[in-house]
Amino acid sequence: MSFHATALTLFPEMFPGPLGLSLAGRALREGIWRLDAQDIRAQAHDRHRTVDDTPFGGGAGMVMRPDVVDAAIAAAMPEGDTRPLVYLTPRGRLLDQALVREIASGPGVVLLCGRYEGVDQRVIEARAMREISLGDYVLSGGEMAALTLLDACVRLLPGVMGGAESALEESHSAGLLEYPHYTRPAEWQGRAVPPVLLSGHHAEVARWRREQAEAATRERRPDLWKRIAAGAAAA
Ligand code: SAM
Repeated sequence: MSFHATALTLFPEMFPGPLGLSLAGRALREGIWRLDAQDIRAQAHDRHRTVDDTPFGGGAGMVMRPDVVDAAIAAAMPEGDTRPLVYLTPRGRLLDQALVREIASGPGVVLLCGRYEGVDQRVIEARAMREISLGDYVLSGGEMAALTLLDACVRLLPGVMGGAESALEESHSAGLLEYPHYTRPAEWQGRAVPPVLLSGHHAEVARWRREQAEAATRERRPDLWKRIAAGAAAA
C-alpha cells in the first residue's frame, strides 16, 4: 500500500505543483505515493458556496466554517481511515525531522489547509486534529506548508531517494546540522577544498565531517546543541 496524501484546500489546483517534478514527481508516477487534493468548497451547499463567515467577538478577517470543514473531512476520510489528520497552523507544534519521519512511516496523511484567519476551533477539537506549524511566521494559506511537509515525507519513502545513506547523513537525521560539501574543481577562485577530503583516508574524512557538523551545530543552532548535549549527559 502506497503512502496516501490528501490535501483539503480551497485551491486544489496548487497540487501537486512542485511535487509533480523531480524525485517526488517520479515517485508519484511510479505509485510509491499518491496524492489527491479535495476542494473544501465542494462541501458548501448554499447558493454562494460559502466556506467562511465573520468571527464571533469581532475583529478582522473571516473564519472557515466548522460544518463545511467537517463535511470535507468526512468526504475525504471514510470510516476506518487511520491516517493522521493534520491542520497546518502557526499555532501548531513546529515541524521537525523526527515528526517528518513519524508521518512518513505511517499510511499517509490528511492535510487541512487553512485560509483567511484560520479554521473554527470546534472542528479542530471535534476531529482531534494534530496541529503542525512550519515555522514562526505567517503564510497566506496552508497549501505551501502542506507541500513542504509532503516533500519532506516523500523523500524518505522506500525507493524514492537513490542513496539511502544520504538520508542517514543529512542535517537533522542525527540531531546535528550537516557538514559542508565540496566538489570539482579542487581549487576555485583561490579557494582550495579542505585537504583531508582529497586524502582518500575514509576514517579521517569521517572524523573531519563529524567535527564540522558539531561545530556548525554549536555555532548556528545552540538550541539543538544544548538538546544533544543534554541527551548525551542522560545516556
Ligand atoms: N490568523 C492566523 C494566525 O495568526 O495564527 C493566521 C492565518 S494564515 C493567514 C491562513 C492559513 O495559513 C492558516 O490557517 C494556516 O493553515 C496557514 N499557515 C500560515 N502560517 C503557517 C505556518 N507557519 N505553518 C503552517 N501553516 C500556516
